[in-house]
Amino acid sequence: MGLTMSDKPRNFATRTIHAGEQFSVADNAIFPAIVTASSFTKRSLDDKPEYSYSRVGNPTRHAYETCVAALEEGVGAVACASGVNATATVLELLPKDAHVVVMNGVYGGTFRIMEDYRSRTSGLTTTYVDLNDLEAVAAAIKPETQLIWIESPTNPLLHLVDIKAVCDLAKARGILTCIDNTFCSPWNQRPITLGVDLVMHSASKYIGGHSDLTGGVVVAANDSLLARLRRISMAIGAVQGPFDCYLALRGLKTLDVRMERQCANALQVARFLESHAQVEQVYYPGLESHPQHELCKRQMRSGGAVVAMKVKGDRAALNRLVEALQIFVLADSLGGVESMINHSWSMSHCSLSPEQKGVMGISENLLRLSVGIEDYRDLIEDLNGALRAAAAV
Ligand SMILES: *Cc1c(COP(=O)(O)O)cnc(C)c1O
Repeated sequence: MGLTMSDKPRNFATRTIHAGEQFSVADNAIFPAIVTASSFTKRSLDDKPEYSYSRVGNPTRHAYETCVAALEEGVGAVACASGVNATATVLELLPKDAHVVVMNGVYGGTFRIMEDYRSRTSGLTTTYVDLNDLEAVAAAIKPETQLIWIESPTNPLLHLVDIKAVCDLAKARGILTCIDNTFCSPWNQRPITLGVDLVMHSASKYIGGHSDLTGGVVVAANDSLLARLRRISMAIGAVQGPFDCYLALRGLKTLDVRMERQCANALQVARFLESHAQVEQVYYPGLESHPQHELCKRQMRSGGAVVAMKVKGDRAALNRLVEALQIFVLADSLGGVESMINHSWSMSHCSLSPEQKGVMGISENLLRLSVGIEDYRDLIEDLNGALRAAAAV
């Protein structure tokens, strides 16, 4: 079948569709092309090309999935439209009426899918425990427990979970494990090497890294899980579009240098805050004062790039602080190259009641910093000025 129109003149309308080799991709390009095709042609009835339809498989998506899976040391990945979509894709693995043991203080969107949707649509039940309390984990496990959902570090107070300990316990009972590895990115923590079956990310954060993309991804530790995830993704259509896969793949190219700078900056910022009279408490696993610092050294490459702090003063003082910042931007997200600050009470955790926030340790004077790649000296100066503004009455 001739697919080029070069040898035979055709009419205009036909040429607009078929002229030139519009379908061909240079195979020596230094970066994978953004393949936007929804469909791929067959050369004959017996032809079985690698790609047939983009919901099922797409070359740009595949390039990104292959890269992220290699970074996480998994066998493959499924790229999803968002982080919460990746979570929903994982939950689709479970049978009806399954029970899940979930880390206390899990990401709000994960809680929402489980409690507001899966509980109603598939009979999902949950028990929230501190996964570091292995006795509590064992006690929470029921015959219908299918999954342990780990998040480490948690948002915003950066509690860690001993990933290997939880995986050993789960494996002995034939229970799947999935971790939300968004806060670490594969640079800082590779849970599959600690025994986790599934790793999910909001690619909107460190993987994309530039605050210009919404995406999610699930990495599988073995081929049978990967095959099941691919089937789910194909069946429910939870796929990431090629433009966003391109952005995520582009983001991954600089993940190593971004994370190295961001984590080093975060440590400097955390040390500065710890010594500041206006700061009541700093939460950063990379500090020796963090109660799980030893665990951090064991399973993470660094303390990460998120720092939380409780500031002395009332809401007005916090407002003065936030308004005085010139580099840190007040935003709901994290993980970008620009430094961000978030007020958990009124922003990320605003849908919780004051009592629920209290149980989670989220107070009105808590601020979460996502440290970017700027010069740390400027970041410290910015925070210093803002803390001075908070103290001034
Ligand atoms: C942002 C985030 C998600 C959800 O990801 P979206 O891309 O916003 O859907 C899940 N988990 C964590 C820890 C996050 O920070």
